[in-house]
Amino acid sequence: MADGGDGGAAAGAAGEGGRVPAPAQRLERAVWWDERFDFQTTFLQCLAKHVPNIYSAEMDPLLEKQEEMVQATIFYPLECYLFGEDPDIFLEKLQQSGTSQLCGKVFKGGETTYSCRDCAVDPTCVLCMDCFQNSIHKNHRYKMHSSTGGGFCDCGDTEAWKAGPLCTKHEPGASGTAKENSECQLNKEVMEHSRRVFPSVIKYIVDMLIWEEEKELPLELTVREKVDNYYCVLFNDEHHSYDHVIYSLQRALGCELGEAQLHTTAIDKEGRRAVKAGHYASCQEAKEEIKRHSENVSQRPLHVEVLHADVMAHQKFALRLGSWLNKLMSYSSDFRQIFCQICLKEDAGSEKPCFISKLMLWDAKLHKGARKVLHELIFSSFFMEMEYKKLFAVEFVKHYKSLQKEYINDDHDRVLSVTALSVQMFTVPTLARHLIEEQKVITIITETLLEVLPEYLDKNDKFNFQGYSQDKLNRVYAVIYDLRYVLISKPTLWTDRLRERFLEGFVSFLRILTCMQGMEEIKRQIGQHIEVDPDWEAAIAIQMQLKNILLMFQEWCACDEELLLKAYKECHKAVMRCSTNGRSREKTVFHLCGHTLESRPFRVSADPVSIHLPLSRTLAGLHVRLSKTGAISRLHEFVSPEEFQVDLLVEYPLRCLVLVAQVAAEMWRRNGLSLISQVFYYQDVKCREEMYDKDIIMLQIGASLMDPNHFLLLILQRYELADAFKKMKPTKDQDLIKQYNVLIEEMLQILIYVVGERYVPGVSDVTKEDVIMREIIHLLCIEPMAHSAITKSLPENENNETGLENVIDKVATFKKPGVSGHGVYELKDECLKEFNMFFYHYTKTQHSKAEHTQKKRRKQENRDEALPPPPPPDFSPAFSNVVRLLNCDVMMHIMRTILQRAVELETHLWTEAMIQMVLHLLSLGLLEEKQQLQKCPEEEVTFDFYHKATRMGSSALNAVNILMLLEKIKRVPQLEAQKDTVSWILQMFDTVKRLREKSSLATIAATSGSEVAKGDESTQDKEKAERKRKAEAARLHRQKIMAQMSALQRNFIETHKLLYENTLDTQGKEDAIMEEENVSLAIDYSKIALGPKRGPSVTEKEVLTCILCQEEQEVKLESAAMVLSACVQKSTALTQNRSRILELSGDTLDPLFMHPDLPCGTHTGSCGHVMHAACWQKYFEAMQLNFRQRLHVEQIFDLENGEYLCPLCKSLCNTVIPIVPLQAQKINSEDAEAVAQILSLPRWLEILIVRISGYSVKNAKGEKQNTPTSMNKGLGNSALEFHSILSFGVQSPAKYSSSIKEMLILFATTIYRVGLKVAPNEADYRIPMMTWSTCAFTIQCIENLLETEGKPLFGSLQNRQHSGLKALVQFAAAQRTTSPQVLIQKHLIRLLGVLLPSFKVEDTPSLLEVDMFHVLVGVVLSFPSLYWEDAVDLQPSSISSAYNHLYLFHLTTLAHVTQIVLSSATESPTAQSHDNSEEACSAQSLCKEICQYTGGCFSQDVPGWLVWDCVKKGIMPYLRCAALFFHYLLGVSPPEELLQVSEEGQFKALCSYLSLPTNLFLLFQEYWDTVNPLLQRWCADPVVLSCLKGKSTAIRYPRKRNSLIELPEDYSCLLNQASQFRCPRSSDDEQKHPVLCLFCGAMLCSQNTCCQELVNGEELGACTSHALQCGAGVCMFLKIRECKVVLIEGKTRGCLYPAPYLDEYGETDPGLKRGNPLHLCRERYRKLHLLWQQHCIIEEIARSQETNQIFFGFNWQLL
Ligand SMILES: [Zn+2]
Ligand SMILES: [Zn+2]
Ligand SMILES: [Zn+2]
Ligand SMILES: [Zn+2]
Ligand SMILES: [Zn+2]
Ligand SMILES: [Zn+2]
Ligand SMILES: [Zn+2]
Repeated sequence: MADGGDGGAAAGAAGEGGRVPAPAQRLERAVWWDERFDFQTTFLQCLAKHVPNIYSAEMDPLLEKQEEMVQATIFYPLECYLFGEDPDIFLEKLQQSGTSQLCGKVFKGGETTYSCRDCAVDPTCVLCMDCFQNSIHKNHRYKMHSSTGGGFCDCGDTEAWKAGPLCTKHEPGASGTAKENSECQLNKEVMEHSRRVFPSVIKYIVDMLIWEEEKELPLELTVREKVDNYYCVLFNDEHHSYDHVIYSLQRALGCELGEAQLHTTAIDKEGRRAVKAGHYASCQEAKEEIKRHSENVSQRPLHVEVLHADVMAHQKFALRLGSWLNKLMSYSSDFRQIFCQICLKEDAGSEKPCFISKLMLWDAKLHKGARKVLHELIFSSFFMEMEYKKLFAVEFVKHYKSLQKEYINDDHDRVLSVTALSVQMFTVPTLARHLIEEQKVITIITETLLEVLPEYLDKNDKFNFQGYSQDKLNRVYAVIYDLRYVLISKPTLWTDRLRERFLEGFVSFLRILTCMQGMEEIKRQIGQHIEVDPDWEAAIAIQMQLKNILLMFQEWCACDEELLLKAYKECHKAVMRCSTNGRSREKTVFHLCGHTLESRPFRVSADPVSIHLPLSRTLAGLHVRLSKTGAISRLHEFVSPEEFQVDLLVEYPLRCLVLVAQVAAEMWRRNGLSLISQVFYYQDVKCREEMYDKDIIMLQIGASLMDPNHFLLLILQRYELADAFKKMKPTKDQDLIKQYNVLIEEMLQILIYVVGERYVPGVSDVTKEDVIMREIIHLLCIEPMAHSAITKSLPENENNETGLENVIDKVATFKKPGVSGHGVYELKDECLKEFNMFFYHYTKTQHSKAEHTQKKRRKQENRDEALPPPPPPDFSPAFSNVVRLLNCDVMMHIMRTILQRAVELETHLWTEAMIQMVLHLLSLGLLEEKQQLQKCPEEEVTFDFYHKATRMGSSALNAVNILMLLEKIKRVPQLEAQKDTVSWILQMFDTVKRLREKSSLATIAATSGSEVAKGDESTQDKEKAERKRKAEAARLHRQKIMAQMSALQRNFIETHKLLYENTLDTQGKEDAIMEEENVSLAIDYSKIALGPKRGPSVTEKEVLTCILCQEEQEVKLESAAMVLSACVQKSTALTQNRSRILELSGDTLDPLFMHPDLPCGTHTGSCGHVMHAACWQKYFEAMQLNFRQRLHVEQIFDLENGEYLCPLCKSLCNTVIPIVPLQAQKINSEDAEAVAQILSLPRWLEILIVRISGYSVKNAKGEKQNTPTSMNKGLGNSALEFHSILSFGVQSPAKYSSSIKEMLILFATTIYRVGLKVAPNEADYRIPMMTWSTCAFTIQCIENLLETEGKPLFGSLQNRQHSGLKALVQFAAAQRTTSPQVLIQKHLIRLLGVLLPSFKVEDTPSLLEVDMFHVLVGVVLSFPSLYWEDAVDLQPSSISSAYNHLYLFHLTTLAHVTQIVLSSATESPTAQSHDNSEEACSAQSLCKEICQYTGGCFSQDVPGWLVWDCVKKGIMPYLRCAALFFHYLLGVSPPEELLQVSEEGQFKALCSYLSLPTNLFLLFQEYWDTVNPLLQRWCADPVVLSCLKGKSTAIRYPRKRNSLIELPEDYSCLLNQASQFRCPRSSDDEQKHPVLCLFCGAMLCSQNTCCQELVNGEELGACTSHALQCGAGVCMFLKIRECKVVLIEGKTRGCLYPAPYLDEYGETDPGLKRGNPLHLCRERYRKLHLLWQQHCIIEEIARSQETNQIFFGFNWQLL
């Protein structure tokens, strides 16, 4: 921390540290203060004396020392004086008397805030984490968000919450808050002193902060002689980047990078910093230098000042004093009130503003640190006292204009501006009301806008944002936001004054709209394409900002009839004023069907048009509200009919719609993308309410007030289609014809909307809910949708609500998501009838998708495909005339003309879409007439659609009416798809006709219902017949399609023959293999893998297909190698000890023995895809070449490290496993029996030891080596000689083809390189060790996975796991042959050191320090090396192997049982059992021995049954691993029990498969002579003894199965944790990114320089460096604030993954954008767990990087 004056230090200031002046001094001070009369003078004298001394060392301050001195010399005496007693005692008392009811916690950036959708008055009302957790809203529909900083907690503000304004912590009477009133009780004396102290303190603060002199101080503070001590001070701005500043400083001051960085960080944090101290001249010089250099890099110079040291000191102290006050404010309401009073006090008679105004006005000139202190002070004083908040707001509004202007020119973020406080005041309903009434705040805000926007006005006084500055405009938006805040809560009670002020504000607002009406006009570009796309974003952005404001204005107006009418009048006036354009032109006349339209010509395609018409649209909005409230009947009192001029009102919105049509017809394509974007937003959900929707309404207003024929003529003319409906001139120009057709379609659509779209309150009698339901229904008619997708497609109101939740359950049902994807809503069946194909908010694609979906659905239900419009609600009276459009002459003409063209097959003049629309209009007409007839007596229904439609259009001979045309349409082959609709319409004609006829006989009311029903009945028969016909037709059609399809398929197979057949083949083969295996399992071979009863290997010819060349090949030893793609990685998936520090480089590591903690292993996985080694090599080389040529393409994978993507499945791989065939072995049981007689374990051991010592004798001649000190003393039987081992059977070893050998070496080297993180070296002695190690570790991983997934040991592996493991084990067995046998022998001897009695090798770890399974794999695989002779290469025969395996396995098992007994059977029993089983007895006697050998360290108290229990449980994973290993090594089928999951059966089956007695202790008894010395040796090891004595701990068996950490069910718990997170390395209050490691639960400080770590000379972020240890480079984190999972690998790769938290709609919420409550989804978390345990994280990262290239730029290293 560079500044003692900031909030952080202040927090602790009044309480604890550093304030211990000597008692004498203390007393003297206090007295001194008291005696003086003039506080002001003494106070300043004291400051003048001390402050410059205390803050003298600006460049290199001792912060603690400073604070101590300030406390002692200034604060302590000051407080003594103020409180009249010891400050600590006094404040303690105050504290206990209670705190405020308001929480008032000020948010820092990134802090989580909560709002309640049920109770918050508006979304700006928020709670802090603490208050939220203690509030009722916790169980409501809350929202979580990240604060941008600067807001504060509204807990306790009764105006902010409809319910539950107080949390339990702030509730009066709650613990700690005592009686509410008592807290205000400061005694008189203290109040008196406060009144005397505060003014001086405040004045000093204000004076110093606004002090502008660089060299001088105010006279009162100038005491000592001025010294030539200056600082060159650099200020923060948002213009220069970090790097700019660092660069400039380095250049200008010649300082080190580190120092420059230090300065820059401090400047960014505090706002300013002294970068140089010295004499005035030198500082001045530095200043110029800095300015010069900074100007060089970025045009603008940095802000630098030279300040006298004393000025600097006093300014610094002023801020410290500010924090002191801030703290004081929290103690008592009296302090706050006195403080506020003084701040607001104006000098009588003086023009000078009060203190607080001064500060406000100076705000934009202050540096960052000062602003922070001041704003916090305002929060803690004014904003905690409602009365003073109001007074502050009044002052704020008084200066509003100048404050906003300052802010707009300021270069600091908005959170740092005093203007950002507006939201705290304007959103308080009573305060807003007061400000509107008394301070005209609406007018002031709009005037401010008018004053800041002129720079964007063109010569016509319209806005034009070409070449605007984004930053500046963003600042203007802040003003618009304020308008929104003021309007956010509608008043319920209107006073005359409020009405007046509001109207005044509204009129002022209309002036802004006037500048927007018609702004940024565009003209169609003809010939050349425009060169530069004009800026359009700014204008559209303003429209978006204004949308809800416009709506709110309309709503406010509608509260009060009088107001509404007056507002309407004003708005109408404004529209008229803007509608002058074109008046100069001569009117022209247009005739059609005997109707005439006189109008001024205007062509959208030639004259300038604008898409921005906020005035017209506001008027339309007010008009529907007039209609809704009924006030429309009084409209003539305000706007006379002559003035009204409806045709002018319609004109501009109509032009806009025509523009949209012409854009669709591609007439404007030369105007570029900018227009397309504007048209998009015009209709998009973000804008349409106040753009497109209102234009439609305006047309409806026009249609309701104009003569329908005239209205249609106007439409035809504006669409420039007048000629198209007269006599079509024949043209060959295809483009032109197409253009006409699109225009006609567009126009028909608009007509459909004008007549049919009535879901607007006021246009018809619908509610807002009805409207939302209809929107949702139409969205779900397209397809089922996620909650968020629906929300995104609905307009938001001023509270960011869509109203979705209130209605969704009425129209849709929720379907839960699976493990991936999200939940969706499906439309309820009963809502399907509401579907309107021509819904006006459908885009073109949505329209056709919805139509397709609905038709398909009807077809599936075996119904006709007609989709007629649903009957629309009745227009409200003001709009009832709109329906006359349907039956007017011009409409009939239009429809007839189009149908006629279709019938006459003038193919180029009509389209199917056109016909669809005409049919839709016909349906609307018929529905209307039917509805009217059903409501009123026939003679009263003047709507005569039926009549008009059945009448001839002209007297020409061949003239036909619409009804007749329809009959013909039915037969047009191109309109097959419309037949059902046509039939439906014909039926409707019939129905209406009947209604007309019947009603002329009887009164409609009585009969119509049943008649209609009857009519429907007769049509039902017809329908049935029709359906039958159609079903038949459909069947034939399907047949045809099927025929076509299969032809196509044949074709496909023909062309892709190779591929197809091959894949079929391999699939078939694989299946066959599986089957064979299954079959062979069924045959009753011996299912024993080890020893003389060993069963045969089940092998079969393996023919595999190379995925690259598609050729197949049998896998044989002597053939060219085939390989499996594979990925080797280090893994900590099984670790039992995360605190163990991993070696980052394996240069000196000896990996022969694995520690039982399994801290880090090497895992080999495969995607199971097979290639020829040669094909793979070619592929890899080609890829390398390819990438070398395209240097700049960022690589997903690291070719240098051998990485590539599997050519088939794109998994990330870094090597290949050669496929080595299993060598079938079978033993002759007679021979085996014979051998059994002589080869007992002791004998075998003897032979073994002789062999080994023989070797060592031989080798001793050569080099010095780790000779086992063989002790042959007991072995008198020296008949044995060096070669004895060979006598039980040898055979010649397998001969591998050179290509297989090559691959063996290649793969082994990769394992070595990746597993140890070392440079590749084919000859390294550790290569075989690593081979065995990865083999053992991978098996352990798979065993672990099967167990956690609850799957049986055999038969349930995925194909890829199965083939990968098979190849890996066979490889591991074969690898030995590529290394020198002497080397293998050496390793073997060291391994045997653990197992053999009387056989000591140096460096043998103690029994508790080795993983026995790793030992087992190692000894089994290396054992054949003993058969090697100098000259002859031999290997053991099947029988020999069987015994070797058996004894080696028994020995490791003995060792493991001992491990378990020593480490795990130490607990005293919790339950009693009287199990006297054989096992228990054996266990007991073993324990006795162990106890003896450990000198009593091993307690004998543990009962035998418990020991047995421990052993049985603990040994299970080892047995399972061993079974897997031997199965894949030998190919012996396992017993059936292992193909199922069963606890008890499994143990027996394992024992039988592995030739073990089920009472494992029998092994000890049987081999006692051998075991005895072993046991002695094991037990005597110091490590073992220390463990038993409890001095160290050993791993317990079974090992714990790792899982990802427990996550809380409720996400806000995590956020809570995150908010309490403190970075371990830094104490500043900057925003942190807490990240949770899902492996170990560590919380890290990510993406922050404070926690970067230097690893091997590279800076790594906290996550990356943690991952190196925690996951051996691969790790999984949860970014808590963003609710995203991050997977990372190494230093360069990573990806995001959805967090396992879902909201109630089954959706994730990355970035907490939606903010709904989130809950843990166990299934998804489990999926993440499996991703880890299956070692698929790297694969996932590679896949995601391939599909999602965005993250290439991301620097994962610093995460
Ligand atoms: Zn709070
Ligand atoms: Zn609270
Ligand atoms: Zn609530
Ligand atoms: Zn191949
Ligand atoms: Zn693959
Ligand atoms: Zn971790
Ligand atoms: Zn940190």
